[in-house]
Amino acid sequence: MIDGLYVIKDGVCLYSRDPKADMEEKVIISGFLTAFNQFAKNIPKGGNIKQIVIGKMVMSFLLSRNLIFVFRQSELNSKALQVLSSEIIESFNDNFKSELGNFRGQTSLFANFDEEFDRIISKEISLSAQKISIEYVPADIETAIIEKLASNGYISEEDINRCKICLMEIFEGLEEKVSCPNNHPVHLDCLKHWLVHSNSCPVCQIKYPSSILNIFDKK
Ligand SMILES: [Zn+2]
Ligand SMILES: [Zn+2]
Repeated sequence: MIDGLYVIKDGVCLYSRDPKADMEEKVIISGFLTAFNQFAKNIPKGGNIKQIVIGKMVMSFLLSRNLIFVFRQSELNSKALQVLSSEIIESFNDNFKSELGNFRGQTSLFANFDEEFDRIISKEISLSAQKISIEYVPADIETAIIEKLASNGYISEEDINRCKICLMEIFEGLEEKVSCPNNHPVHLDCLKHWLVHSNSCPVCQIKYPSSILNIFDKK
């Protein structure tokens, strides 16, 4: 499900709507947007939605014209994102196409878009809608953003070392973990159940190397 939307232009957050975020999440989000802005220009452009996973949050973003749309989700690769994001972006661009050139920081411009955003995300999600493909942000950029968040105290070691399947902390030395080539850690026990459905990392969809898959090979 999509929980929040942030729209960034030239390093300035034009619009934010994230009614479900609690205080702790708001702090992390503001740190993320600051760190993200510094690295945004290094992130390859393209039409596909890209994702960064921070602790229990999934930040997905798409560049459209000169705007960056950042969606906050509470789960990975949700159908809601695939189906609703294009509608949200289209609606935002339609509503503000003429105003954005003259934007001078007047947030009142977007007051009515709150209702529009709520209306779109509260919709029934049709499974027949066109799918948007999701790309994963290059590992070095994700690492740089996460290190920035950790160095500024926005997130802790515990947030970084969270299983991408069950989203709980992985206790080093007590619990066995493995990581995909993009360094997304998961509990070995969680992976065992995950592999019943898929041989790919739940975050970046890269296939697990045979060295990991072989752990579960009974023969
Ligand atoms: Zn786990
Ligand atoms: Zn991965």
